[in-house]
Amino acid sequence: MSLAHGRPYLAIPGPSVMPDAVLQAMHVPAPNIYEGALVEMTHAMIPDLKRIARTEHYAAIYIANGHGAWEAALSNVLNPGDKVLVPATGRFAFGWADMAEGLGLVPQIIDFGLRAPIDAARVEEVLAADTGHEIKAVLFSHVDTATSIRNDPAALRAALDSAGHPALLMADCIASLACDRFEMDAWGVDVMVAGCQKGLMTPPGLAFVFFNERGHEARDRVTRVSRYWDWRPRSEPDFFYNFFGGTAPTHHLLGLRAALDLLHGEGIEAVWARHETLARTVWAACEVWSEAGAMRMNIEDRSLRSHAVTALGVGFGNGAKLREWTAQNAGLTLGLGIGMASEEDPESSGFFRIGHMGHLNAHMVLGALGVIEAGMQAVQIPYGKGALAAAAGVVAAG
Ligand SMILES: *Cc1c(COP(=O)(O)O)cnc(C)c1O
Repeated sequence: MSLAHGRPYLAIPGPSVMPDAVLQAMHVPAPNIYEGALVEMTHAMIPDLKRIARTEHYAAIYIANGHGAWEAALSNVLNPGDKVLVPATGRFAFGWADMAEGLGLVPQIIDFGLRAPIDAARVEEVLAADTGHEIKAVLFSHVDTATSIRNDPAALRAALDSAGHPALLMADCIASLACDRFEMDAWGVDVMVAGCQKGLMTPPGLAFVFFNERGHEARDRVTRVSRYWDWRPRSEPDFFYNFFGGTAPTHHLLGLRAALDLLHGEGIEAVWARHETLARTVWAACEVWSEAGAMRMNIEDRSLRSHAVTALGVGFGNGAKLREWTAQNAGLTLGLGIGMASEEDPESSGFFRIGHMGHLNAHMVLGALGVIEAGMQAVQIPYGKGALAAAAGVVAAG
C-alpha cells in the first residue's frame, strides 16, 4: 500500500504548482502567429507584466529559463572585460557570476556566506574604493533560492548612491517575482531578470528582462550583442516576429496570460500578503520542530527570510531520506538542498527546501507540513511537538 496516490504536490522552489487555468489555456490547437488574437494578446500582456515587476519602463521576453535571463541581461549592458561586483548570499549569485565570467566579464565576488544577507555597508565600501568606476554593474539575488535569504534591493541602491557610483544595479528576481514584495522603479533597480516558472506559475520556458532608462542607455554603449539576445527588437518590436527573435512561444504566452489574470484578479498586494502569511505558517511549524535540536532553519531572523522558499538543515543524510520518504509515501516532492555543501556533508544531503511560491493556499501548506512531520517520524528525525498546531494557528489568525 502507498499513500502517494492522488494529485501529486511539487513543493519545490520552481517549477511551482501550475494552476488548472494555466494548463487549460495552453490546451488549444496552434494559433495564428501572423495576426489576430495571439498577437493582440501579447501586446496587451506587456503592461500587465510590467505591473507585476512594478516598473513603467521596458520589458523583453525570451524563450529561455532563468539562466537565459541571466545571459540576456548581461549581454545587453556589459562589454567583455567589464568588471561586475557580485555580493553573494548563496548558490545563485555564484551562478550569475559564473555566467558573467563565461561572457568575458570580470566578476568580483563579496561572499557573505550561506546564512547572512548582503551587508550594504560593505558593498558601499568596495564601490567607494573604486574611484576609477571600473565596476560597471552590481549583480545580486533578491531571494537566493538555495539559502532562502531575502536581500534588500533598496539598501543596495542607497549604497550605490552614497558611494556616488554609476554602476548599474541588476537584480535576480527569478525566485521572488510575484512572491516577495519587489518595487523595481521605487527601489531604483536598473535591470531585473525573472522566469515564468516560479511566482508566475507557468511551465518553464519564458524568461524576462526588465530595464529602465539607465539600462537602455547602457545598451547603447555595448559594442556587440548577439542578435538573439539583443533586447532592442524585443522591447520595441516593429513586427510581432521580432518580439521573440523568431517564432513566438505560442502556448507559453497563453499560459502566462492566464497566470497574469490570476495575479491581477487577486491583486499583487494580496498576492504578496498571501505569500507572507503562508511563509509564516511554514516557519511556525519549522520553529517548533527545531526545538528538538535536529532541525535548523537556515535563516534565523524572520525579517531576512524569503516568503517563497525555506531552506532547512536536518543533519547529514537526513534531508535526502526525508525527501525520498515524502515523495514515495505521500506524493509530496520537497526541494533538494543545493549549494550548502561542507566537509561533513559534501552533497548538501543534510538539507531540504520547502517551496511555497505561486499557486498555493492554506490547505496545501498545512498538508505539506503534516506530511513532513509524518516523514520525520518515519525516518526518525527528532522534532519538537506542537508544530502543526502552531501552523494552524497562523492560518486561523489569517
Ligand atoms: C530558479 C532560479 C534561477 C535559475 O533558473 P533556471 O530556470 O533554473 O535557469 C536563478 N536564480 C534564482 C534566484 C532562482 O531561483
